[in-house]
Amino acid sequence: MRLSNTITNITGGGSDGWELFLKARGMIAEGIDVTELTIGEHDIKTDRRILDAMHASALGGATGYAMVPGIDSLREAVAERLQTRTGVATGLENVLITAGGQAALFAAFRALLDEGERALFIDPYYATYPGTVRSIGGVPVPVKARSRDGFQPRFEEMDAQAAGAKAILINTPNNPTGAVYSRETLEAIAELAQKHDLAVISDEVYDTQVWDGEHISIRALPGMASRTFTVGSMSKSHAMTGSRVGWLAGPEEAMAHVVNLLTNTNYGVAGFTQEAALHALGLGEAFEEEIAAPFRRRRALAQKALAGQNAVRLLPPSGAMYLMLDIRATGLSSEVFAGKLLEERHIAVMPGESFGTAARGHVRVAMTIPDAPFEAAIREIAAFTQALA
Ligand code: PLP
Repeated sequence: MRLSNTITNITGGGSDGWELFLKARGMIAEGIDVTELTIGEHDIKTDRRILDAMHASALGGATGYAMVPGIDSLREAVAERLQTRTGVATGLENVLITAGGQAALFAAFRALLDEGERALFIDPYYATYPGTVRSIGGVPVPVKARSRDGFQPRFEEMDAQAAGAKAILINTPNNPTGAVYSRETLEAIAELAQKHDLAVISDEVYDTQVWDGEHISIRALPGMASRTFTVGSMSKSHAMTGSRVGWLAGPEEAMAHVVNLLTNTNYGVAGFTQEAALHALGLGEAFEEEIAAPFRRRRALAQKALAGQNAVRLLPPSGAMYLMLDIRATGLSSEVFAGKLLEERHIAVMPGESFGTAARGHVRVAMTIPDAPFEAAIREIAAFTQALA
């Protein structure tokens, strides 16, 4: 079979940095007790009330083709959520339901880029970003954010890469760094977008997980609604990762074209999962806080566990379900460090290199195991690092 260059190039030819994750899974399969701090998924399952709604919906007949743009009631509920949280007038015509945030990212890039066109994104980054751009024939252009800036990107560095680009992808609260972009950072990105006529894809799938400061959606900044696609998802906010319900929000005239893409790709999202998502949104902010609470708690546990030592530097984690640990005191690359930690202490963390070059010398810890083993693992990592430093 003669495959396209586009599909054979999705990974960009390099390793994807997930070898450590695969090795940890291999050890677990051999029966070794590994503490896994790798994956961005809750340690709880989808709430029973949401599953009951899904069951009732399926039994009630929502098992046929659903409307391709999404069911109106869910689009309306998402629009209302966005409008309440950002102040930007949003109606169902601005919202399309997608198979998770990932499908929304794909649709946004497909809507914006032609073959060979460039899209900026901030390094460190969520692992799929460059592959998503390449999967539609675009050219991903990383812009480094720096540990010493708390991983907030700088205007000059974005500006230096922006000439001729078509779009910039941002993610706040951020995976993998835990950064929540400040108003200043977002204003700089808005200025950049206006200067270079860039569209902004704003990945806000962690919008309910903010521990410090506030989540600001760039779509709410002056002049930005007409050039911004917002990506959202039920995965992280409602512990519904497997249901694959997300959304893309943006200007009405763009959405009309995106519907054509959805018609010719997924042909809609299952009606019963959409109705379950509608039920989940109806549980309100108190439920979202309940889902976020374990991460808020574990962040505090980690801060306590790492106080009073200086081998590991914890970057102030302002949001999302991850911690970034600076392990440069050991002089090891984060891949070597993570490999030793796995072999010698049976703790799996993600090397910074899995998320781009800007996260070298750091490891990402997912706060996705119960409190007691989580705290013990953080103390163990600190002691291990101390011994190497
Ligand atoms: N964006 C970010 C930053 C993520 O971390 C993830 C998942 O980990 C996604 C998007 C995609 O999530 P989903 O497709 O489940 O909504």
